[in-house]
Amino acid sequence: MPYVGRFAPSPTGPLHAGSLVAALASWLDARAHGGQWLVRIEDVDTPRCIPGADQLILQQLATCGLVPDVPVMWQSQRSDAYQAALNTLIAKGWAYPCGCSRKEIEDSQALMSHARERHTAAVYPGTCRNGLNGKAARAWRLNVQRVIDELQLATPLTWQDRLLGSQQQDVAKEVGDFVLRRADGLWAYQLAVVVDDAAQGITHIVRGADLTDNTARQILLQHALGLATPSYMHTPLVLGENGEKLSKQNGAEALDLSDPLQALNRAAQALKLNPCLTTIDDALHQWVQASRSPAIVPQRQSV
Ligand code: GLU
Repeated sequence: MPYVGRFAPSPTGPLHAGSLVAALASWLDARAHGGQWLVRIEDVDTPRCIPGADQLILQQLATCGLVPDVPVMWQSQRSDAYQAALNTLIAKGWAYPCGCSRKEIEDSQALMSHARERHTAAVYPGTCRNGLNGKAARAWRLNVQRVIDELQLATPLTWQDRLLGSQQQDVAKEVGDFVLRRADGLWAYQLAVVVDDAAQGITHIVRGADLTDNTARQILLQHALGLATPSYMHTPLVLGENGEKLSKQNGAEALDLSDPLQALNRAAQALKLNPCLTTIDDALHQWVQASRSPAIVPQRQSV
C-alpha cells in the first residue's frame, strides 16, 4: 500500500516539545512504512500566524533531521481550491450562509441550556439552516444532517484510530453545522485540512491526540466532497507541569535546539522509544527500526 504522510503545523509560533512529538511520530511512521513525508504550513488563520514562524519551524525540523520529501505547501496560497470545494458543497445544497453573530449563537445556546465544554466549539443551533431571515450572510456552514441523510451515512459516525481503536461521534448532535468559511472571510481549518490532505494524496495522518475530536468532521467532509478517507493515528500529548497540554496558546516555550539530540530523545520518550545518545542520524535510524515493530508502541495496530 502506498504511504504518504504529513506534518501540518500552524505557524503561530516556533515548534514546542509537543509539536516535535507529532512531527517525529509522523516522520517515523512514514519512514517505517517506506513512505513519503510531507510538510504543510497551515497558515489560514492569519491573525494567529506569526511572521517568520513558518521558516523557523522548517529550520527547527531540519535541525532535527526531519526534512520533507517534496516542496512544502502553504495553505495561504490555496484559496482557489477551498473556494472550489465550497462551491461544490453549495451546488449540492449542503452548505448554507449564516448571518448569526457569535453573541446570537451564545444567547440561543443559553436558551437551549447547552453546556459548553472547554476546547470545544459551541454547537450551532441551526438558526440560518432554512434561510437568513433578512440577515446579511457572514459565514458558510455545512448542513451536517442533510449530508448524512443524502449520503445515507451511519450515525454516529465511527472510525478506527490506529492507536486509540474504535472512535465515534454524532456530528449533528455533538458538533452541529460547523463553519467552512468564517465570518471574517478566512477559511476554516476543517475545510482546508480536508481539501489539502486530498490534494497532497495523504494516505496516513499521524498527529497529536488533541485533534482526535476533529476527525469525524473531517471524515464527513471527505464523504461530502467525494474524497478518500486516510488512515488516522493520534499520538499521546505532552503535558506541561500544570498537567495541561503543551500548546503555543498556553505559553509552551519554544524548543531549545542547542542540543537537538536531547530534544529528539525527549520527543521519542513520549512515543515510548528508547533514548539514543550517539547522533541524530543513529537515533532516527534506530527509532525507524523500532517503529516497524508493533511491540514498541503499545496497542498500535498495523496499517
Ligand atoms: N495545523 C494543525 C495544528 O497545528 C494541525 C492539523 C492536522 O494535523 O490535521 O494544530
